[in-house]
Amino acid sequence: MPATDVMRMAGNVYAAARTLKNLGTRINIGELTAPLADLESSVAALAIRIAELIEENTDLAQRLAWRDGWDSVAKELVLRDRFYFFGEAPEGSSPGPYCPNCADVHHRLTRLLYAFDSQKASHRYACSRCGSAF
Ligand SMILES: [Zn+2]
Repeated sequence: MPATDVMRMAGNVYAAARTLKNLGTRINIGELTAPLADLESSVAALAIRIAELIEENTDLAQRLAWRDGWDSVAKELVLRDRFYFFGEAPEGSSPGPYCPNCADVHHRLTRLLYAFDSQKASHRYACSRCGSAF
């Protein structure tokens, strides 16, 4: 059942409870008013909780979609000399190298930047996202 249907149903129950509560007030059936007020507040709390669950579900669905996307990217990566490279780079993408820390820990593809230190006559790769240097 789609979550929006649950929200619609909860809204219908809330409206019905509110109508009954108001009707009970007009015809002076005092014993009916308090339980219906409780019902109204319970349904309102339920509607709030459902909205929270919808938001959580949306977030989880987005994370799962992102994870599925990462899995398809990870299949294309090859580990070579501590760095990741595409076996065959997708059109418009660099073949590498990509940060192994970002890939292994954060499931992110971050191109490493090459830097040459002329004073030390040394070179290194640095990650702009996680700060790792190699
Ligand atoms: Zn990194």
